[in-house]
Amino acid sequence: MTFASLGLSEELVRAVTERGYTEPTPIQAQAIPVILKGGDLMGGAQTGTGKTAGFTLPLLQRLMEKPVTGKAPIRALVLTPTRELAAQVEESVRLYGKYLPLKSMMMFGGVNINPQIKQLHGRVDILVATPGRLLDHLQQKTVNLSQVEILVLDEADRMLDMGFIRDIKKVLAVLPKQRQNLLFSATFSDEIKLLADGLLTNPALIEVARRNQANELIEQRVYPVDRERKRELLTQLIKEHNWFQVLVFTRTKHGANRLAEQLDKDGIPAMAIHGNKSQAARTRALAEFKTAKLQVLVATDIAARGIDISELPHVVNFELPNVAEDYVHRIGRTGRAGSEGEASSLVCVDEHKLLRDIERLIKRDIPVVNVPGFDVDPRIKAEPILNGSNRGQGGRGQGQGRSQSAPRSGGGQARTGGAPRTGGAKPAGGAGRGSVPGAAQHRSGGRGR
Ligand code: AMP
Repeated sequence: MTFASLGLSEELVRAVTERGYTEPTPIQAQAIPVILKGGDLMGGAQTGTGKTAGFTLPLLQRLMEKPVTGKAPIRALVLTPTRELAAQVEESVRLYGKYLPLKSMMMFGGVNINPQIKQLHGRVDILVATPGRLLDHLQQKTVNLSQVEILVLDEADRMLDMGFIRDIKKVLAVLPKQRQNLLFSATFSDEIKLLADGLLTNPALIEVARRNQANELIEQRVYPVDRERKRELLTQLIKEHNWFQVLVFTRTKHGANRLAEQLDKDGIPAMAIHGNKSQAARTRALAEFKTAKLQVLVATDIAARGIDISELPHVVNFELPNVAEDYVHRIGRTGRAGSEGEASSLVCVDEHKLLRDIERLIKRDIPVVNVPGFDVDPRIKAEPILNGSNRGQGGRGQGQGRSQSAPRSGGGQARTGGAPRTGGAKPAGGAGRGSVPGAAQHRSGGRGR
């Protein structure tokens, strides 16, 4: 199947071909024809499935099919839960629409409102916004949504989780009744269904498999290591394998900051990304990471949820998450149709129970790799992981706040000490795939803004 066969115009096909996409992903193959026909859509798809292009491409085409004369009003509105997602979606709109005369704008809070007001005086065909700031503009009457033809709610479940339902309803109230509605959500709770019922007319239902659940292309590994030697091991792995574009997860913001600083000192360009950072710092970190200037991005689960980065070559769990499902989300950032990804977990004696929970959830054992020189010291006993941190850093556990159950003493039941499954695993040294796995992943034009 090709993009052209889905009914997309030559300008759009050219733009996606330039991006290197050869064929539509399943959500694109299903959603594009429906949206082109003008129908409403309820899409069950999460980040990484190609959903953004799935709605952006036909949206652009629909707008082109009915050109307006004179000053164009805002004709398409995309609501997203976070600033980062708004920026990513708007970037996609610009990339895919690069051969079309349409103008887009992103709008989010946390930055000065005046440049946004100024931009709204000019032409904006497609507005990508977070609900809160959009509402500010509506209240100040600095935005006019009376001509919106297409509404997209992206990651609707997250918008509800973040408490945006009232804001969304206020926005809906000022939109024209006659319009096309597209709702995307990774989950379908009763709340989402209620929202969809009130919003969508005879929607097509399209659901694509949760991408990460059984993504065999993700090579998962466990590296047993002592608690205090994790950073040393991580530095060695990154340097030896020449890993680029590594997304590293820690449990706490504090841990993320500290690790990023230490890696930087080790000569590995790294930055932490989390809610305490300014918007400018986060945007800069993300842009540099995408263009591979920044080798490592250190994030907490919450922070990573707010950023749209996927198809990374390497995801590292510097610390295992307290909730096994978060492991699946984390490693879902790597790998995608047709290309491999690696998910490495540095696991110390405190984390054996977490590892078992994860393996139970994903219904498989993760291969263990013992790195020479990092033998686990059997004298070190497990300590409880308190408040999401086992290092007495005092960092709050990013909202999860649960403490772990009692530590396992000894570790006799763990696989790290002895080793039925260690022998055949790849040694750490020189076993990387290709010379610079990240090189193939570098995106072009990621910074142009
Ligand atoms: P999304 O789910 O929209 O966040 O997209 C995930 C990633 O897949 C993005 O980085 C896109 O650049 C990429 N992508 C989207 N569509 C395709 C495609 N048809 N072929 C290859 N990659 C794609």
